[in-house]
Amino acid sequence: MKIDTNGWLSGVRRIASPNFDPRPPGTAIDLLVIHNISLPPDQFGGPGIVKFFTNQLDINAHPYYEQLKDVKVSSHFLIRRGGEIVQFVPCRARAWHAGVSNWQGRSRCNDFSIGIELEGSDFVPFTDRQYAALARLTRRLLRSYPLRDIAGHSDIAPGRKTDPGPFFDWPRFRANLKNK
Ligand SMILES: [Zn+2]
Repeated sequence: MKIDTNGWLSGVRRIASPNFDPRPPGTAIDLLVIHNISLPPDQFGGPGIVKFFTNQLDINAHPYYEQLKDVKVSSHFLIRRGGEIVQFVPCRARAWHAGVSNWQGRSRCNDFSIGIELEGSDFVPFTDRQYAALARLTRRLLRSYPLRDIAGHSDIAPGRKTDPGPFFDWPRFRANLKNK
């Protein structure tokens, strides 16, 4: 995986999202934020996430989608259940994944973070292929950006967000980062 100057990775599927804007000038990208998402909730493999991140979600396709009307969000990366990595926003740009957030006294975490969504939920384990892809992607990002911390969405928005949830195995992930 190579990363170009804008922060697009080669070798991953690219689906450009319109939901991004520039980071504040001079901002170091020093935080990685791990999320989970599934659309409809707890259903995997459908087009909902991609449609949501590209503002093409059909609000009538599922009752849950009504609350997502006119919501504009994105993430830099999505890792699907089979381990496929999709990139929506180049890393140099600010994706809209964190919302109201704070990490160690710094608010607006979108300004200085990269967001990775795992297709999943708070109620089922993630897949082996997802852990493998996440480790590969994270190791690549660690070589290109001055990432100092890795946090869950629930860590930067406690009380508001629960993802990546109790099934995300942090020790496994951190151990994987040390492997080649
Ligand atoms: Zn999240």
